[in-house]
Amino acid sequence: MTETTSYARAQEQLRDRIRGTWARQPLFIDEIIRPGLTENQVKAIRHASQQTEDTGLTHFLAIIPKLQIMGHGDWAKFTSDFAFDMHEKSGEKQTLVLFTEGDTAARSYAYLVTDNGPVVPTGAPELMRSKSDDFIPVELSVPYYLQVLVATANGTEPPPAPDFDTRDVGTRSEDYIERFGLDSSDPDALVFGATTVAALGASLWLLGRRNRYSWRTELTTKPELVKSHNLKKAVTEAAAPIPEPVRPDDETWALYDRGRRIQEALTALTAAHPDWAESADFAHRNGVFVLVTLDRWVRRQLRRRSGTVDEEPRFCFLFPHHRRDIEDHVLKQSGRSLTVALCADCREELETGHDPQRLMVPKRPGSRRAIPYFQRSDVYALSGFGSFQALDEAVLDEMSPQRSAVGRSR
Ligand SMILES: [Zn+2]
Repeated sequence: MTETTSYARAQEQLRDRIRGTWARQPLFIDEIIRPGLTENQVKAIRHASQQTEDTGLTHFLAIIPKLQIMGHGDWAKFTSDFAFDMHEKSGEKQTLVLFTEGDTAARSYAYLVTDNGPVVPTGAPELMRSKSDDFIPVELSVPYYLQVLVATANGTEPPPAPDFDTRDVGTRSEDYIERFGLDSSDPDALVFGATTVAALGASLWLLGRRNRYSWRTELTTKPELVKSHNLKKAVTEAAAPIPEPVRPDDETWALYDRGRRIQEALTALTAAHPDWAESADFAHRNGVFVLVTLDRWVRRQLRRRSGTVDEEPRFCFLFPHHRRDIEDHVLKQSGRSLTVALCADCREELETGHDPQRLMVPKRPGSRRAIPYFQRSDVYALSGFGSFQALDEAVLDEMSPQRSAVGRSR
């Protein structure tokens, strides 16, 4: 068995033990470390848990052994995922979850969880660790963290740092006191105010990531497009005859023909999906938005007397309503490289290592499972909203009865 799997198993076993207790009561003290705690410590922990319960807020508290951890980020993920699970089970608006490691409390994770995910309240950073991992006693840190969580949940002032005199800790913490020069100034505030930047950074990164990527599991419903872009009116207007060109040259007649095709495509799309404006499948709204934008563009060009023509509107491949500075971009998706049109915001997100938001649609009609629209095989995926093929062409190929007899152009 590799180190990774034994570590994963240890985490899983720990999770099962905690979950079993949390199903009955909010306080879990692992039997493995229970004998190592003094009676006073256990009393202080129980008292803090009871006090939290008395506030009416739902909380879960786990006093756990030190794990052979493989990396800080992994532990942050384990606890934040677990905290979110407990929140989902609690059914409350807010859930307080605290994990504290053993008799030292050197590693603690405090979460206030809402439906938007877990957050680490300010004032509850992970405690700075000494080389010996041994300086903040659990009987002080647990009540403190719980009070910080309660204060954050209630929107009140967090409590002052606990009264903890580092001078009395003895030789066990000498490295820590020497290293940070805490023998001179206000050690308590320093101890509790200090954050191990990398450590906190890792857990915040994970939490931020969870919020940032919540779109991944949800069907897209925003931004509202029908009212904000007057789409219903635009659909009606697009049914009016395409104006004959003011300048009757070949190029303009070609544009006129394109206008007719866009018009037909819009008719085909809205006939095939009469519920496009309310459908759970947001792709139809984007399809209408794109076709209407193209229709308006064609009509504008045809009315022009001068020879100048505005460039054809382009749409972001990942989310067609993005319009800022669209450029071609090579997108690497599961080993394949695709050249697509991307907006400046999505390109920036990719450059900084983030996944930009995508248009998420039902996997199948009626399905609640959300997938990026381009993972289906419908007209939107075939066209990429203009990245692979003009949307009007794709719609006519797939949805129009006359054209589908002719067959697809690609
Ligand atoms: Zn974009």
